[in-house]
Amino acid sequence: KAEVKVCTGCGAPLQTGQPESPGYTVASALEREHPVCRRCFRIRHYNEVSSVAVDDDEFIKIVSEIGRKKALVVKVVDLFDLAGSWIDNLRRYIGSNPVFLVANKVDVLPKQTNLEKVEMWLRKEVEKKGILLEGIALISAGKGYGLKHVKTFIERYANDRDVYVVGTANVGKSTLINRLIRTFGETGDVELTTSRYPGTTLSSVRVAIPNYKHHLIDTPGIMTSHRLSDLVCPKCLKQIVPDRTIDPTVFQLNDKQTLFAGGLARFDFVKGERQPFVCYFANQLELHRTKLENADTLYRKHLGGLLTPPCGDCGDHLRDLVTHKIKIKEGSSKDVVISGLGWFSARGNECEVHVHVPRGVDVSIRRAII
Ligand code: GDP
Repeated sequence: KAEVKVCTGCGAPLQTGQPESPGYTVASALEREHPVCRRCFRIRHYNEVSSVAVDDDEFIKIVSEIGRKKALVVKVVDLFDLAGSWIDNLRRYIGSNPVFLVANKVDVLPKQTNLEKVEMWLRKEVEKKGILLEGIALISAGKGYGLKHVKTFIERYANDRDVYVVGTANVGKSTLINRLIRTFGETGDVELTTSRYPGTTLSSVRVAIPNYKHHLIDTPGIMTSHRLSDLVCPKCLKQIVPDRTIDPTVFQLNDKQTLFAGGLARFDFVKGERQPFVCYFANQLELHRTKLENADTLYRKHLGGLLTPPCGDCGDHLRDLVTHKIKIKEGSSKDVVISGLGWFSARGNECEVHVHVPRGVDVSIRRAII
């Protein structure tokens, strides 16, 4: 049996298959006398943290440690997918520690977005989940907006607490921490150290902040499987994740018309008066309109061609569509959200829509946020 090598930095078993999981390294590094994983390599050579994601059990062990400490929790969510990037039962893990919400990727929201309204909505959503927020910041870690606010908050509220940054995979946690390292680093050297999380094979990355007693601690992301972005291949992921400001597309639809978002989701306007539906998806994802009666045939004939993603590398699980039947009442505008893909917004006229998405992907309704 081949011997499993471990990272001489963090002790995680080395592997070359899953870039997001602990111990990932390139094959050539395995030949070295003191091999290290990519995460440790980047910490040592670039003072940079990189994303790592773990499964539920490991994640719970790690975040439960927070509940036993005096901590400040910086919870990072993706504004493009709040429901998909929320961590269920967070309060149970973190105890009574204060929470600061960082809503990242504000740069992808359309220009006309009322950010105050979004902030109010976020606060309410999080309160509904049983968490009273100490503060909230809408930021773009990628573009560098709003970092000062996060820094000031940490300086003001951390006191004698360590600061734990938590979030699901891909919300931009590492991008944020690396920005913070540079932002705090302006006042002196920032020291990165690793130490083991109790009861796990993963080391924790701790950033010592100049002039403060506390550390900033990077926790691994939790892997999820209910976001479309979790299910597509890496190439198609680029097609569905917005990398710049979304330009919403408006479709005036008659009933018995269908919209396809690539071949990943299908939106049937089943019943109701002619009305506009606004689509918020990555600009590079193509939307196609057809008659409801032709939708099945179009899907069968053109999936992977005209209707792409998914591509041939994505696997057949994306072809197993489940129908969510939704009745929208007369009233305020509503968003029909497909986790990890985007949303359709209905303008508050009574209607019935059917949304078809791959099995396991969350579909939810909310008051329109834009
Ligand atoms: P982590 O898994 O939570 O550590 O997430 P990463 O920091 O690795 O980021 C995940 C993806 O989101 C990467 O492709 C980033 O480039 C992207 N990303 C991070 N921050 C932002 C942001 O503010 N805006 C946008 N549009 N993308 C971002």
